Amino acid sequence: MRSSITEAPTVTEDRQRYEGVVGELEDRLRQMEAELAERGEFADEAEPRLYDFHTHTFLSDGVLSPIELIRRAVVNGYTALGIADHCGAGTMARAIEETTSDAELALQHWNFRVFPGVELTHVPASAIGELAAEAKRLGASHVVVHGESPVEPVEPGTNLAAVRCPDVDILAHPGRLTMEEAQIAAQTGVFIEVTAKDGHSLGNGGVVAMAREAGAECILDSDTHLPSHLLTPEFARTVAQAAGVLEGELDTLLRANPEKLIARIEARR
Ligand SMILES: [Zn+2]
Ligand SMILES: [Zn+2]
Repeated sequence: MRSSITEAPTVTEDRQRYEGVVGELEDRLRQMEAELAERGEFADEAEPRLYDFHTHTFLSDGVLSPIELIRRAVVNGYTALGIADHCGAGTMARAIEETTSDAELALQHWNFRVFPGVELTHVPASAIGELAAEAKRLGASHVVVHGESPVEPVEPGTNLAAVRCPDVDILAHPGRLTMEEAQIAAQTGVFIEVTAKDGHSLGNGGVVAMAREAGAECILDSDTHLPSHLLTPEFARTVAQAAGVLEGELDTLLRANPEKLIARIEARR
């Protein structure tokens, strides 16, 4: 049996060894954090990302000019912004040209990425393929199709034409998306939109459930017409959660899928 006299130094030695190990681990941890911060990875975790590919200016029915919309997105903490004004056959050339000019200005002076796209809106379903191809030919970064919203008389067949079209990037507010449409989108890679816009958002719950079951990818957009419609990181999460997006799916919806779309846009340039 050990006496208390021999025990005391042993406990002290154990404590010293223990503190030595903890100290080494703490040093290693600080070193790893410094390495991650240097590579920009640690900072990324803390910094919320905010993307939005569907917004309107006064080139259609929004109230802001393209550059004011961009300025307000910068102030709201956006990582990147897509502009997609309502277009038909006759208005897309002008919208693409004018938003592209302001997108170039924002990149040059504010180092802020703006994607000048279009939203094909209430066009005949059978014309979507040719109009989407024409928009891309005119330099649109991305093509959004105004889907069969529950609150507007969009021509039936619009959702189906959009998910089948290789030049369409986002099917916006598709309302009662069918399983067939969701399965096609899963194959073609057309993103299905979860919308923050009132009215259109009535369809969100069904859209999210259908897309999940089919394995189609979703993206969240504001459909901004007024400055107050622009997203914040908190509002984007609120919209997603109200649509039934699960905690474990949030990062894919709000960060990974937008980054995937940007990679696609950049690969096409
Ligand atoms: Zn509108
Ligand atoms: Zn819209």
